[in-house]
Amino acid sequence: MVIKNNYINGEWVPALSGKTRKVINPANGEVIAETAEGNAEDAVLAIGAARKAFYGKGEWRRMSAQSRSDILLKIADEMDARRDELARTDTLDNGKPLREAEGDIDDAIHCFRYYAGMIKAPYGGVYDVSDAFGPMHSYTIHEPVGVCGQITPWNYPLLMAVWKIAPALAAGNSIVFKPSSLTPLSSVLLFEILDHAGLPKGTVNLVMGSGALVGREIAKNHDVDMVTFTGSTQVGREIAKAAVGNLKKVGLELGGKSPNVIFADADLEGAVEWAMIGIFFNQGEVCSAGSRIIIEESIKDKFVARLAERGNGMTLGNGLDNPDMGPLVSEEHMNTVLHYIETAKKEGAVCVCGGYRYTERECAAGYYVRPTVFDNCTPDMTIVKEEVFGPVVTIQTFKTEEEAVNLANDTIYGLAGAVFTADGARALRVVKEIRAGITWINCYNPTFNEAPWGGYKMSGYGRELGIHGLEEYQEIKQVNINLSPGTIGWYEER
Ligand code: NAD
Repeated sequence: MVIKNNYINGEWVPALSGKTRKVINPANGEVIAETAEGNAEDAVLAIGAARKAFYGKGEWRRMSAQSRSDILLKIADEMDARRDELARTDTLDNGKPLREAEGDIDDAIHCFRYYAGMIKAPYGGVYDVSDAFGPMHSYTIHEPVGVCGQITPWNYPLLMAVWKIAPALAAGNSIVFKPSSLTPLSSVLLFEILDHAGLPKGTVNLVMGSGALVGREIAKNHDVDMVTFTGSTQVGREIAKAAVGNLKKVGLELGGKSPNVIFADADLEGAVEWAMIGIFFNQGEVCSAGSRIIIEESIKDKFVARLAERGNGMTLGNGLDNPDMGPLVSEEHMNTVLHYIETAKKEGAVCVCGGYRYTERECAAGYYVRPTVFDNCTPDMTIVKEEVFGPVVTIQTFKTEEEAVNLANDTIYGLAGAVFTADGARALRVVKEIRAGITWINCYNPTFNEAPWGGYKMSGYGRELGIHGLEEYQEIKQVNINLSPGTIGWYEER
């Protein structure tokens, strides 16, 4: 099997230790690739290359926005040409249905094009200032932060990489990127594309390896100017702590336990379908998943019966065959999800749909869990409090709007939330009260490159996408100009 190597300083290189790691297809447990397994030393090498590229020649940061934009468009074009290969790779690696992987790749291509355009837009400010030193003119310029360490999870392998790499490159930074060890293969393809695009040596570096070694080094190394991380809240905390040494900038996109609030006047069939998209899309392995349904008591039974019926009808299978849901990402993760399901049952939640590992036909060798719905849930239950990151949803009821809002906000997280109602004013009142960074009215999950993405509370800080996503990777410098050069007589004898 050909080993997929790290990409450091413009070269494909094996891990310094020579170690490799096997990559598994979760649909059937088969080994599909072998990758270089870097450690802290490989990360240090990549950080050195990125630093030299940025602080040495500085070709990329000094390049005109037009030239950087041209290169980003070239990257998007090659991604487009290799769209099917990229999508198939994410499905093989992660398990998701192929049509969902194709959607991810299309979003990723648009993300590069979006930032290719944005970097040429006017930005910065001009300030009308004057003070005791005489007439002055003041303006700001945006500059790249420097060396950016970027660490991503396994649920949207290519898309999470591009949400970070596209704006960081647009802004003129150097990058050391680490994908999840479970799903590194589309990142290897992306770096092949970056390699062809004509970026100066050392501008982008790929280091595969464990979070504990490569990820930790990126977070703590003083030659890294910024670290952006998408992953669990627990690891996010460790990153923030490790980053304190040189006070590097930190961006954290973390976990969630998002409320999906449904009022009795909502279109029931529509709410059921969006609730399914909210929790079963991507096998429920979505940070913003609508994992807590909070529904008005009067329609609960009807809604739950319909949700269970639709959930029971969902097809599971190899993602390449485009079933409704693919396998979970790994055996270990499947076991975590099954453990949450058993805990919920023990704590008194009533399982009305799914709730078990699925092993029929070809699924026997893979890591499949049926879409699962728990009724009669209460705020103290583990299944209501903790992020499961799988196709498991809880049902709680309310009688008043105030009660609905209180239940929605009864969580340490603040990533996302939705409200379903035919009453427009109520929809606006409720989304305003939900303490979360992303909210939806009468839909669940649509995300756009143009709008900022990020969390409140323990779902993290900073924003990706939109203009905020670019600004995260920029410093702002003020420039003050003396409009009447010459002596101003400040130290003349008085
Ligand atoms: P994880 O936190 O286990 O791992 C994420 C990445 O961090 C991986 O690349 C991992 O190797 C690395 N890592 C692990 N330990 C590290 C350490 N000590 N230092 C540095 N890096 C380390 O998360 P996961 O299981 O890959 O992904 C699932 C989590 O990601 C969920 O909690 C989910 O909600 C979250 N997520 C959030 C968003 C968002 O936008 N907010 C998007 C996707 C996923």
